[in-house]
Amino acid sequence: MNMTEMSRPRAAYVHVPFCAHRCGYCDFTLVAGQEQLAEPYLQALQLELQQIEGRPELDTLFFGGGTPTHLPPDQLRRLFDLVLDHFQLAGGCEFSVEANPAGFTAEKMNLLADAGVNRISLGIQSFDSSVLGLLERDHRRKDIETSLSLLRQRFDNVAFDLIFAVPGQSLELWFATLGQAIEYAPQHVSTYGLTFEKGTAFWSRRERGELQSAAGDLEREMYLAAIDQLSSAGFEHYEISNFARPGYRCRHNEVYWTGGSYYGFGPGAARYLNGRRTTNHRSVTTWIKRTLAGESAVGETERLAPEDRARESIAIGLRRREGIEFATFQQFTGFDLPELAGETVKRMTERGWIEPTAGGIRLTREGLLFADTVAGEFL
Ligand code: SF4
Repeated sequence: MNMTEMSRPRAAYVHVPFCAHRCGYCDFTLVAGQEQLAEPYLQALQLELQQIEGRPELDTLFFGGGTPTHLPPDQLRRLFDLVLDHFQLAGGCEFSVEANPAGFTAEKMNLLADAGVNRISLGIQSFDSSVLGLLERDHRRKDIETSLSLLRQRFDNVAFDLIFAVPGQSLELWFATLGQAIEYAPQHVSTYGLTFEKGTAFWSRRERGELQSAAGDLEREMYLAAIDQLSSAGFEHYEISNFARPGYRCRHNEVYWTGGSYYGFGPGAARYLNGRRTTNHRSVTTWIKRTLAGESAVGETERLAPEDRARESIAIGLRRREGIEFATFQQFTGFDLPELAGETVKRMTERGWIEPTAGGIRLTREGLLFADTVAGEFL
C-alpha cells in the first residue's frame, strides 16, 4: 500500500496484539503467551509506519489490544518511540492507551505518562471475584485498586470498561458494580453486554451446555440500569455503550462514529483513507510475515459507493445519543436523509425506535435496546 498520495487523517490506531492468556470470551486479534513475537512485531510495525510520508500531525492517537501494557517496559518504550517518530501530536492531542489491572506497575505507569499518554482505558470489567473468575480475567479487585492508586499519581483521565450479562451475574450484582465504578470516579465508562462469538472457548462451552447466555430481559434491564445509574451520577450518555463526564468523551472513537478518516497499524487494524477502508490481516503471524517480506498485509479492502456510504453513516451515526442532524449529514455525504431513507425513518418511528430532534433524528430509549436491528434497516 502506498499512502503517499492519500489525504491526511488526524487520528491513528495502533493494535498491540499481546496478552498473558486468552480470556474465554475474547475473539480479538492477539496472541497469548507468545512474547517471542514482540520483537518481530515491532520490526513489522516500523516497516508499516515507514509507508507514511512526512510526519503528520494527530489530534487523537489510540493504542489498543490485546493488552498494550503486557509488553515489558523496554519494548513498550520502543513502541511509543517508533510511533512518535512518524507522527507529531497536535496541542491537546488525546493520547489513549488500553491497560489491564493485572501486572500494571509504577514503572509502566511512569513510562506511559513520560511518553505523553494522557488517557488510560482500564479493562476493569467487574469488581466481583466470581464474575472476574468466570470471565477468566487475570486480575482481582486488589489489582484494580493498586492500578487506580498508581494512575491517580499522574493521570486525570481514566476510562473504565465494564461487562454485564455475564452468566450467573444478577441484576443486584450489576447494580453494585456500577455503584463501585462510580465511587472510584472515572472520567469515562464503557459498558458492554457479554457476547458469545463463534470460535471462542465460551461459544464451545455454551454449545456443550456448560454456560448459558443471560436472559434477554435481564440483559435489557442491566443496560437500562447502567444508563440510569451513570446518568444520575453526572455522566453524559453520549453513545450507545459510552458515558462520559462533561468534556471527557473519547474523541478518538468519535472520529469513527462521525465517519472521519483514520490511520490503522498492526494486525487486524483498519484504516479509512480517501473513502476506502482496508483492514490488515487478522492473524498476527501472517501480518508479521507479510509485512517483514515487504508484501501487502491487507486482508480486506472495501470501497463503498456514495449511497452505501451514506447509508452506513446513518447506521453508525445513530449510535450517538445526539443522533443525526440532517444538515450535517447532507454536508458530509451529499445526500438528503429524508429523501434517501424517509420510508425507513417512518417505519422505525412508528415502531417507537426513532424520534425526531430539532433538525434530525435519534434513537428513542426503546430504540437503544434494538440498535443493531435499526441499523440493519438502513443498510
Ligand atoms: S485481556 Fe482483553 S484482549 Fe486480552 S484476552 Fe482478555 S479480553 Fe482479550
